[in-house]
Amino acid sequence: MKITFPHIGNSYIPIKAMFDDLGVETVVPPKCSKKTLEIGTKYAPEMICLPLKINLGNYIESIEKGADTIIITGGCGPCRFGYYCEVQKEILRDLGYDVDIVVLEAPEGNQIELFRRISRIANTKNIIKISMAIKNAIDILKKLNEFEDKVLKFRPYEINGNEVDNLYNELITDLENSNGSKEMKVHLNRALKLIDKVPLDKNKDALKIGIVGEIYTVIEDFSNFDIGKKLNRMGVEVHKSLSPSEWITDMLFFRSFGMSKEVKIWNAAKPYIDTCIGGHGRETIGNTVLYSEKGYDGVIQLMPFTCMPEIVSMSILPSIQAEKNIPILSLIIDEMTGEGGYLTRLEAFIDLLRSRKDKKQLEGVN
Ligand code: SF4
Repeated sequence: MKITFPHIGNSYIPIKAMFDDLGVETVVPPKCSKKTLEIGTKYAPEMICLPLKINLGNYIESIEKGADTIIITGGCGPCRFGYYCEVQKEILRDLGYDVDIVVLEAPEGNQIELFRRISRIANTKNIIKISMAIKNAIDILKKLNEFEDKVLKFRPYEINGNEVDNLYNELITDLENSNGSKEMKVHLNRALKLIDKVPLDKNKDALKIGIVGEIYTVIEDFSNFDIGKKLNRMGVEVHKSLSPSEWITDMLFFRSFGMSKEVKIWNAAKPYIDTCIGGHGRETIGNTVLYSEKGYDGVIQLMPFTCMPEIVSMSILPSIQAEKNIPILSLIIDEMTGEGGYLTRLEAFIDLLRSRKDKKQLEGVN
């Protein structure tokens, strides 16, 4: 069995660690590229959302490298994610690819079924071995997300050029060359110590922007034209409201037991929306409210074209913008989006935030 999985940010690293620990061979798809998107766009239904197109490209590139089993996470609710798996299976079957697709979820809270599926992939019923591999993978994911958060937070304040980027690139190379969670943890612990020592000029007057929206476009930097780095280079501190570690622990564990870590966000969204609308639509609203309360200068919503939950959120955001006095920019992305136009919109938004902040500061002085 040769396992593959779709890319979403750097999540391939902890997933590989887990399978390394279980002794299962993996085929990591080539990094998302124009070629990946072209393949996915060619074979996916035209109006399906962008993440499915990129995922499909990932699978086909991996199958061509020898993968025979695809792992995906499950989902439900009003948006299309609930039938992603079936659509992908049909497309791959029609293309003549004979692959097994395993959905990693606890259907209706059935943890035994989740364990049974993992056990089949891992080719062992040793619950301790499987539990340890999952635990270590989640530890790695959390540390990696912590490091990524710091990259987005520290970059605009750097004193000596590209130290943060150099640390980031070095860490990713080390992790990609590692085998198993033990080696990876050593690299991560070292990198987390080093990034805290990077000299920063905290007196720099950086803007602060929160990123909300559909989870894939928030996390996968290929799909969002590496928005975090672009904003950092414009002197903006960035915080992403969604991370794979939060999502996976919530999906696989908390929600399986009828709970959620997102209650605080849902409460913040309550005056505007009081129900799940699929995807992370409700979280987009809640996180925007929370960013306004934390004094952020602006919020950017990212969404794929035709993403139903985010279209609903987008219709609510103007009310929050007016009531909470926080500028919000919505960026819709699909395979036709050009980087030049996207960058122009970002620059215009930053100019607006900068002049707003300067004005506020002047008013504060006078
Ligand atoms: S959240 Fe949006 S992009 Fe994601 S599957 Fe649902 S409709 Fe598609």
